[in-house]
Amino acid sequence: MIVKDFTNFDIHKQTRKKSVALIPVGSIEQHGPHLPVSTDSDIVSYIAKKISDKMGFLLLPTIEYGVSFEHSPFFNLSITATTLQKILVDLCVSLYKNKIATIIILNGHHGNHTALKQIPKRVSKIHGINTRILVYSYWHFMKRQFDHAGFVETSIMLAISKRVQMNKAKKGLVPNGLSDRELARLSRLAKKSFPYVTKNGVWGDPRNATAKDGRRILDEIVTAIVKESQTCLTGKSRKLHQ
Ligand SMILES: [Zn+2]
Repeated sequence: MIVKDFTNFDIHKQTRKKSVALIPVGSIEQHGPHLPVSTDSDIVSYIAKKISDKMGFLLLPTIEYGVSFEHSPFFNLSITATTLQKILVDLCVSLYKNKIATIIILNGHHGNHTALKQIPKRVSKIHGINTRILVYSYWHFMKRQFDHAGFVETSIMLAISKRVQMNKAKKGLVPNGLSDRELARLSRLAKKSFPYVTKNGVWGDPRNATAKDGRRILDEIVTAIVKESQTCLTGKSRKLHQ
């Protein structure tokens, strides 16, 4: 159920029965020499659409801007964590006023995660608002190590987009074989300056990525998120994924 496709009447009719809203959040930021800057927003929009189709959730437009300052001086269109939180808190309150009190925020960009996981607490502090908000970052639902413009993101993009320029794909920082301590140090540095750590803006190696792998990874993610949201929404939840 894509909210933009419906009239006021349709939405009221539908939301009486199924009142779970799904809000994808992405980013606009450099993704190496071969992927478009919209990669995170494209991937999270695609996953959210699949989940909405399977579960009948009301799919809201993707918030395409995120907290991506760490990619400077490479291209990024960034909003602050505070701005992102304000937008989402306002949206959750607005949904509540429209009698939609269960909300799933689906995140597609690493730098948004800390800001987003505080949303449930912030909304619950608002007097009179009793909502149920789940926050998921999609890469927590796959077995592979998350990367940035590496094998995972490139494979997914090959599966869903025609805008991948594989002939320009270059190996970036490949963390295989590093000690946990060294990896933690590099991750901390990358949060401050991604280009400083990776040199070319790529974390991982995209050169062997394929659309087939992308479809497999997407299937795994969609299946796991559907299962997790079913468990959470029927009340038999384990600790929420944060
Ligand atoms: Zn990305």
